[in-house]
Amino acid sequence: MSEISFSRSSVSEYLAEIYERMLKALGPQGWWPGDTPFEVCVGAVLTQNTNWTNVEKAIAGLRERDLLEPRAIFELPREMVAAIIRPAGYYNVKASRLRNFTAFLMEKFGGSLDAMFSLAMEELRSMLLEVNGIGPETADSILLYAGGYPSFVVDAYTMRILKRHDLVFEEAGYDEVRSLFMDSLPEDPVLFNEYHALLVALGRNYCRRSRPLCRGCPLDGI
Ligand code: SF4
Repeated sequence: MSEISFSRSSVSEYLAEIYERMLKALGPQGWWPGDTPFEVCVGAVLTQNTNWTNVEKAIAGLRERDLLEPRAIFELPREMVAAIIRPAGYYNVKASRLRNFTAFLMEKFGGSLDAMFSLAMEELRSMLLEVNGIGPETADSILLYAGGYPSFVVDAYTMRILKRHDLVFEEAGYDEVRSLFMDSLPEDPVLFNEYHALLVALGRNYCRRSRPLCRGCPLDGI
């Protein structure tokens, strides 16, 4: 991972230094936890506004009932999906989103993730964003972590860290921040995978919303 060579520009060098410092201090994060690409997709839908432990409980409930495949969730009444994924929180909304995603998968690709992931990245991204309840962070998580596309994932931690280091303006939006990474880093899904995971770890452990722990943070003084 540390042998990836970055192109030479001031933003690229800055992002490279952030990456190298995080990797050195925090180590490889080993994302994304999930046994199959479909399980990764389910996790990407369920992880919004909750912690991963709760998502794992919801996924375990689906696994115990042999429901971790597109048709099974698609054919299950929404109320039953909601009851099973209850530990993930916002379970009615998330059940609808899961069923919307599986309906999309069934109707457009016959339930085949291989068929879905045979599309070009931006074409598939546009289609995913049209699914009710799939926003940019979920779409990019599916693309990167389940599909292996070089699509950078931006989350609240990423936004906070970049803004605190004046890499983007306060009012910068999702696509602007995604483009900053994608235009400045090598187009490498392995790098994007690790980079996003490291930003999440840094945000959780140091760059907290109300009180950043700059002293001792790997990015202190950068
Ligand atoms: S905790 Fe401080 S040094 Fe670390 S990323 Fe946040 S603002 Fe930067």
